[in-house]
Amino acid sequence: MSAADAFTYEALPMRVVFGAGSSERVAQELDALGLGRVLVLCTPEQTEVAGVISDALGGRSVGVHPGATMHVPVESADAAVEIARERGADACLAVGGGSTTGLGKAVALRHHLPMVAVPTTYAGSEMTPIWGLTQGGTKTTGRDRAVLPRAVVYDPLLTLGLPVGLSVTSGLNAVAHAVEGLWAPDASPITSLMAAEGVRALVAALPGVVAAPHDVDARSQALRGAWLCGAVLGATTMSLHHKLCHVLGGTWDLPHAAVHAVVLPHVLAHNAPAAPAAVAALAPALGLAPGAGGAAPDVAGALWDLASSLGAPTSLAEVGLPADAVDEVVSRVLAAPYANPRPVEAGPLADLLRAALAGNRPVTSAP
Ligand code: NAD
Repeated sequence: MSAADAFTYEALPMRVVFGAGSSERVAQELDALGLGRVLVLCTPEQTEVAGVISDALGGRSVGVHPGATMHVPVESADAAVEIARERGADACLAVGGGSTTGLGKAVALRHHLPMVAVPTTYAGSEMTPIWGLTQGGTKTTGRDRAVLPRAVVYDPLLTLGLPVGLSVTSGLNAVAHAVEGLWAPDASPITSLMAAEGVRALVAALPGVVAAPHDVDARSQALRGAWLCGAVLGATTMSLHHKLCHVLGGTWDLPHAAVHAVVLPHVLAHNAPAAPAAVAALAPALGLAPGAGGAAPDVAGALWDLASSLGAPTSLAEVGLPADAVDEVVSRVLAAPYANPRPVEAGPLADLLRAALAGNRPVTSAP
């Protein structure tokens, strides 16, 4: 956006508690919110960490419910609320990544139980009013402030065990929120500041996370970046990149964060000529000098190089997209219009997908 552009910015009512060890403060947060007894939600894989938090809550916890799964089936929300009611809980505490936060949101949406979130990945769902629910094989998403967590407790110590591969792809998933926030039709100076700083923090932190996954400083910086990128996702309208990833993930059941990691450099190369302000904001965050003599700084290539150096998948074939899927992706993406700085046309979109399928390194063009 240019300095002359008008904008509207609506702050979301978010209470954020951040810091190593801060998950020990969950009880204080519940007290401050007047929430008496919580059901602790998690995935089956995170029962242990959720159990530690539940035990520390003593009588304020009615127990751990390890019922979170990808894509939030309606039945999982209904089951969680039934258990919460049986045990006399008046809120949920979601301990985990986007799938667990998603379950907490679904319970809040369908049954009006408030939620506190303790995120353990970089997905950023805890910062957004976006919910998703799957019924009869169809995933529906929407926005509703009722699903926003009442408080979010970020404890980098809970991310030390996030596997390196998932840390990288989840971090790049967060970067994708910020990149699309920079060219969003409802971007504002404040969301753009958050986006640039979120990308800078994650780009700086992820090599440290890969080199030393238990480095608390690197983990803190990554989680702080993820918070900012999630806040951008919550405040702006996403474009081609998120639409593409939604179609790819939803239709072929591909891993969420890995798909984001592969697709983002290609969408960045596609949109860059129509989004010079976003390119200019991303260049320093990626350690690039401004382009000289009308050339664009190669933000797409730099992001691809970063992902590749961190060991992230770089091709859609690698994450499971069949070679003959391109035409179907194109028709699904073109079926419903949505925001994007560059018009989305079948030919360039198919080229983008073929390059991403093959794992080619994209290059940024000037406007
Ligand atoms: P996830 O929540 O599915 O977690 C992936 C795996 O990692 C799970 O097995 C989980 O148990 C494990 N895990 C999580 N944190 C861990 C930790 N610290 N240590 C060890 N293991 C850990 O993955 P995700 O990428 O966080 O979330 C993806 C889902 O979130 C998708 O369904 C996506 O649509 C949704 N999402 C929603 C929004 C939104 O605003 N609504 C935003 C981003 C993502």
